[in-house]
Amino acid sequence: MNSVDKQSTKKPPLIWLNIFVFSFSMLLAVVAAPVYGYFFGYGMEHWIWLAICFTFCNLSITTGYHRLWSHKAFEAHSSLRFMFALGGAFALQNSALHWSSDHRVHHKHVDNNDKDPYSAKRGFWYSHIGWMIRNYSTSMYENYENCRDLKKDKIVMWQHKHYVLLALLMNFGVPIALGVIYGDVLGMLLIVGAVRLVLNHHTTFFINSLAHIWGSQPFTDKNTARDNGVLAVLTFGEGYHNFHHIFENDYRNGIYWWQYDPTKWLIKSASLMGLASKLKKTPQARIEKAEASMLLKRTQQKIMHRADKQQIAEKLQQEFDALVSNMNEYYEVKKQLLESKREDVVKKYEHSVLKVRYQQIKMNFEQQKKNWAMTVEQYA
Ligand SMILES: [Zn+2]
Ligand SMILES: [Zn+2]
Repeated sequence: MNSVDKQSTKKPPLIWLNIFVFSFSMLLAVVAAPVYGYFFGYGMEHWIWLAICFTFCNLSITTGYHRLWSHKAFEAHSSLRFMFALGGAFALQNSALHWSSDHRVHHKHVDNNDKDPYSAKRGFWYSHIGWMIRNYSTSMYENYENCRDLKKDKIVMWQHKHYVLLALLMNFGVPIALGVIYGDVLGMLLIVGAVRLVLNHHTTFFINSLAHIWGSQPFTDKNTARDNGVLAVLTFGEGYHNFHHIFENDYRNGIYWWQYDPTKWLIKSASLMGLASKLKKTPQARIEKAEASMLLKRTQQKIMHRADKQQIAEKLQQEFDALVSNMNEYYEVKKQLLESKREDVVKKYEHSVLKVRYQQIKMNFEQQKKNWAMTVEQYA
């Protein structure tokens, strides 16, 4: 191997601080915590505070770092932003500014091994934790140019400036304070400190690793992101990552009421209490169109081997076009109907005419949905 080859294959230097934090906290969580528990035991208070702090940290990341700061999916009152800044430091995942900068690059260049900071195409280990243990991307952090909007947020900049102090205060201060209250400083440091941190780290890291490997792709296959209900439970709703990568500014990741997305529920509740506003929601027609397009693509692939593929492809396209046209019409009239409801009572007549039209279009749309499902099923 000549010197040029050596240069190009040389890995970036290790970040020893990160390696120490990840491995030492893991060692405490899987060895020291059980040993301590064996000899001294833990009370209910340890588990309750573990659950509270784990939830607080992860929700600060998913709601604050991710949906609020990285994607601007809603606006939040300063009291909420302050809590997210503390929770983010407690979760020990760098400052919100740094995290959001990385995350915006991830969305912009998803799966690009040279640009995506945690590209899933580089494998599970790299996207899960490997990207943080070597100095892969120093140059991009010089100015946080892709987060100019966040630089105007005083809480973000305050947290960024005092990040190390805040991280130390939260990670040692909270467990020690609880330990003093309950008379078990070491036990609280192990459970609320180490075990909680390891759980926070790896459940969040799963979003970059597993949520790009394991699950379905109902909305897009242009990137590796997957929808996965099991991961959604572990990640406070972020498991619906396939939806998220196509409609990244939506405040929801799980769009259906039955999908487990506590982050969405927190944002919605905060808005009802006046602590959050301007919640962004993708128009339903765009979501349904994306889903139907994926189904069309999959069905087209399935009929490739058939002799009559040309004929079937035409039929599929016809049904798809009819579905999209019915869909657009339905959501347009639905919007008009809602708007007319808010208008003057004098326009009552117009409203009732619109209502009749809406019912008709709704029926057509429902019928076309059935036709489409039947056509696709035939070739499944
Ligand atoms: Zn992703
Ligand atoms: Zn995102």
